[in-house]
Formats: sequence, structure tokens, C-alpha cells
Amino acid sequence: MEEKGPGSQVKQFQDIGEPEDRLCEEMGEVLQALAKAKRFGYFNFHPERPHKTNIDELRYELVDLMKAINTLDDHLSLIQRIRDAGTDHNH
Ligand SMILES: [Mg+2]
Repeated sequence: MEEKGPGSQVKQFQDIGEPEDRLCEEMGEVLQALAKAKRFGYFNFHPERPHKTNIDELRYELVDLMKAINTLDDHLSLIQRIRDAGTDHNH
């Protein structure tokens, strides 16, 4: 079923790419949002998005980043367990 409404585009693309790539992208987006907020002020806003302050934009990207960190951590945990399951621990 195709999702509609706010956030649907984000959901549509969240599983594209490997976890490492998605984390790199989100780190870049946090850097950009943080740099803009520091440069123009936390309570300033992008002219095309007057309803969202730089704080709003930064916090949105921080949530994305935390999700990407958790996804990569889950992925690393999984591949570690797969490796451990294939390892003979008696030697
Ligand atoms: Mg993002």
C-alpha cells in the first residue's frame, strides 16, 4: 500500500542504501543544519520554510542521525553474531 501525507517520502527512501551509507548521509545533514544554525541563529529560518526554525531543522536531523546510528549498530551486531556463530570457540 502506498503511503500518503507528511513523512511518506522519508519512509519511501529509508531502506534504500546500506546502513553505513545512510549514516554518512545523515551525519552530513546534521553538520549542515548545525552550521546553518550557528551561522544564522537558532531562531532564524530558511526563507522557503518560515514555519520551521533552525532549531526545528537541527532537531529533525538529529533524530534522523540517531535512527541511522541505531540501524548501523543493529547491522554490526547482526554481522558480528553471524561471524561468531561460524567460529569454533573451542580453539
Ligand atoms: Mg536527515
